[in-house]
Amino acid sequence: MAKIPHLDGDVCIGCETCTRISPKVFHMVSEHKAAILDPTGDTIEKIEEAMDNCPVACITWEE
Ligand code: SF4
Repeated sequence: MAKIPHLDGDVCIGCETCTRISPKVFHMVSEHKAAILDPTGDTIEKIEEAMDNCPVACITWEE
């Protein structure tokens, strides 16, 4: 089964790092918030790169 990323919008500060690294998976929904666009839109490695570079660590794999 595909691993599904979860983005906690309450914690996100809208820095746009994830949307730059993996624009098919993450998109900006307002000036200061990102959200998941397509959870399976990129490789696991790319999604993990976005996770690792999120300054507030609000992207996690869904249990
Ligand atoms: S990298 Fe993290 S804080 Fe930055 S926009 Fe993405 S989810 Fe939000």
